[in-house]
Amino acid sequence: MNKALFRDRAKKLVLTGALAGVIAGVAITSGISSITLKKAEKKLEISNAKLQEQTKKNEELQAELDREEVTENTAELLASDDDRWCLALVNEKHPLDTSYVPANLTEISGGKQVDSRMADSLNKMLDDAKNAGLSMYVTSGYRSYEKQRDVFNTTMQDWINQGYTPLNAYDETKKSVAIPGTSEHATGLAVDIMSTKYGELDEKQGDTEEQKWLMEHCSEYGFVLRFPQDKSDITGIVYEPWHYRYVGVDAAKEMTENGLTLEEYVSAN
Ligand SMILES: [Zn+2]
Repeated sequence: MNKALFRDRAKKLVLTGALAGVIAGVAITSGISSITLKKAEKKLEISNAKLQEQTKKNEELQAELDREEVTENTAELLASDDDRWCLALVNEKHPLDTSYVPANLTEISGGKQVDSRMADSLNKMLDDAKNAGLSMYVTSGYRSYEKQRDVFNTTMQDWINQGYTPLNAYDETKKSVAIPGTSEHATGLAVDIMSTKYGELDEKQGDTEEQKWLMEHCSEYGFVLRFPQDKSDITGIVYEPWHYRYVGVDAAKEMTENGLTLEEYVSAN
């Protein structure tokens, strides 16, 4: 074999070997990586599921913490000297600490109690209405958490007695009675005012001269009709043409002029 031929064959062998090596290498590498990849994928799937579960738990915990913080803040704001104390928002999303009691309560004509800080404004409004020839009275003022719970349970029981399941009765009750801990009556800043000419708290209450006068003038005394007809999707409460909430004269006028609920006013300011 001459040197040239040997070199040529050797070259081919080396090349073939190299090629085989590469092919084998690819095969081995890809074989290993596909197994490794499958394992890694499986691990990733498990850890993803765990992560999702943990994230969900964290979110739930955060929501719970936020809710507690809101609850504390609302009670704190109500009890504070801050100018915005009378703007404290209490609704289903912003519950009030169940232990909150206004520092000072004043008994008004008829025996109901309200937060002393708004009693003069309320009395002035009721006096002026009376002087305008109208006849009305406060049927509900400050209501403790326990009292609210009783009202809620009694109403729910009424629905159950009418054949509703407890769950449906709960949903039905929620539409007209605030869930305990979410009622403005616990702030001492809300009153239900009833015309003596119409004894029901339903939509027709809004047609009385008394409610018409109140709706027109309440902002002058710092009150707003809290649950207007066209805003129940925002307030979460049906039209209540008897429930007035003290928010202070400036806010009441601004809210009335612009047709804003307390939810909208608070989030915009
Ligand atoms: Zn009310």
